[in-house]
Amino acid sequence: MKSFLEKNVSPDSLITLFSQAPVAMCLLVGDDLIIHNANPMMLELWGKDASVVGQPLFEALPEIKSQGFVEIFDNVYIKGEIFNGNKLPVFLEKSGNLKEYFFDFIYAPVFNEDHKIIGVSVVATEVTDQVISERKLKESEYRFEDLIKKSDYSIAIYRTDDLYIELANDLMLKTWGKDASVIGLKLEDALPELEGQPFIGILKDIFKTGKTYTATEDRVDLVVDGKLQSYYFNFSYKPLKNSAGEVYAIHNMAVDVTDLVTARKEIQEREEKFRDLADSMPQFVWTSDKDGKITYMNDNWYRYTGFEKDEDPAAGVKRVMKPGVYENVEILWAESVKEGKPFEMEYQFIDPGKPEVYRWFLGRAVPAFDENGSVKQWIGTFTDIDDFKQLQTQKDNFLGIASHELKTPLTSLKIYTQFIEKNLVKKNDLKNAEVAAKMDGQIDLLTSLISDLLDVTKIQNGKIQLNETEFDFDLLTEEIVAEQQMTSRHRIILNQSTVGMVNADRHRISQVMSNLISNATKYSPNADKVEISTELKGNVVSFSVRDFGIGIPQDKQAKVFEQYYRVSDSKEHTFPGLGLGLYISSEIIKRSGGRIYVLSAEEKGSDFCFEIPKNKNVQQNA
Ligand code: ADP
Repeated sequence: MKSFLEKNVSPDSLITLFSQAPVAMCLLVGDDLIIHNANPMMLELWGKDASVVGQPLFEALPEIKSQGFVEIFDNVYIKGEIFNGNKLPVFLEKSGNLKEYFFDFIYAPVFNEDHKIIGVSVVATEVTDQVISERKLKESEYRFEDLIKKSDYSIAIYRTDDLYIELANDLMLKTWGKDASVIGLKLEDALPELEGQPFIGILKDIFKTGKTYTATEDRVDLVVDGKLQSYYFNFSYKPLKNSAGEVYAIHNMAVDVTDLVTARKEIQEREEKFRDLADSMPQFVWTSDKDGKITYMNDNWYRYTGFEKDEDPAAGVKRVMKPGVYENVEILWAESVKEGKPFEMEYQFIDPGKPEVYRWFLGRAVPAFDENGSVKQWIGTFTDIDDFKQLQTQKDNFLGIASHELKTPLTSLKIYTQFIEKNLVKKNDLKNAEVAAKMDGQIDLLTSLISDLLDVTKIQNGKIQLNETEFDFDLLTEEIVAEQQMTSRHRIILNQSTVGMVNADRHRISQVMSNLISNATKYSPNADKVEISTELKGNVVSFSVRDFGIGIPQDKQAKVFEQYYRVSDSKEHTFPGLGLGLYISSEIIKRSGGRIYVLSAEEKGSDFCFEIPKNKNVQQNA
């Protein structure tokens, strides 16, 4: 029985079909696989022309003989098995170049009418381009996977809106506190602790919205090492879309910023604590940057002044300060900032609500340094010292009045005592005359103490006046030494060099000399001498008193020139005094345009020295 094709279709039509088919076809006949027919597609695929027709296959394409085709054709031709080859690689020589191509093949036996195999039919489709692009895709997938694995960021990919974990690099697994066994699970099953947190919902939403979600320093609670812990991440959820624009997966990239956030939180908490502390202080506390620009004022300042917080704080300070003072403050402050040295100054701020009433404040600032020793910022305070100042004024006033009032009866007392002494001497009652003389000496002591108190109040009120005259310095020195020698058991040795005429307040300079010499004898009870020396260098006159007494500790030496300061060691208490002499002396010397200082060693003795200009109008130093 003949087939439909044989009965109805002309051989020409079949040949046309064969030659025009968009697949490569050929018919190989006999043991040698002679190319009986090969359509144009097959010839093109081989890179040959029609001259190969009639040649044995392996002669026409010798390069394929060693590529396993002998066995394949044997199987088809001898055993009659159909061979289906899928994406099979074949090296073909076309125009002298041997190159790899890929084909889908069907080799089928061809039978004659007696059902005997007489040849092999070949149908082939070239799939080289497809294989190469598949390979490239695979390679890029590998590269992508590799990139993700080696990334410095935690990366995961979630597939479908059920959020299957398609991929998670080692860092992401570490972040989650999980191992690779979670890959392939749903995110909510892999990390059940995410329930109640917003992330699963956000991810699922992206499948609907197609919009990227990013977060900065977001808190995520994860079970790591068996316990629920809080972490902070900068992360993004990016939708991956197919060519139709549909979201098929989400790319999650995260950076763990927990250390950064906790460190910053700690700093913030610390800052808040200090700010609370500063805000609750009764003083005005402020900070400035390293260049002296005020960066913060505590709440108390704003409560006191009623200023707005957004106003420039420096302008506020200027506004409340007594007119004409701010300019000086600015100069001193700029100097402190330049040198990195502490700032201290007293000034008056207006009393809010009381026009024209000012209160005294003590302004102080100290630099804070960074680890390199450079000024990082300044921390400053304004302390209300007005009450203290008033008390001080009251005290000064009282001292002024008291010493003045005491002086008058003392002067009379001295006259009476001297009168009694003279009378007793006249009556030859020498014993009682001696007592009266001692009384006179004690009155002198008392008078000098009261004079000191008076001088202090004069200094405080700026009322101490220097009466500058020209006098013989050498003569004055001799006079004072002689006077002191009369009441001292110490030998006062004078090493004098000629100084000559000096322009200064003779009385006040003599007061300083007496004070230094009497201190030297007072504070050297176990010594028997005191050395005085004078010198003239250029325009500078120096006067120094050296003793061999108790000395002054190093850290107290600068303080002895302060008002009421006495070195408070138990042994000093045995020496009488008010702690005023050196203060008065230093004020006198300062006002005379000179300087006073001490060199001393404990238990060895002290060397007090003052220097004054021989003539104030000559600008010349030693
Ligand atoms: P005072 O009336 O206490 O002597 P001063 O102002 O003269 O007051 O001196 C202040 C302090 O300096 C004294 O109390 C004493 O501790 C110390 N001082 C002054 N001179 C000497 C000295 N020559 N040697 C040791 N200490 C001294």
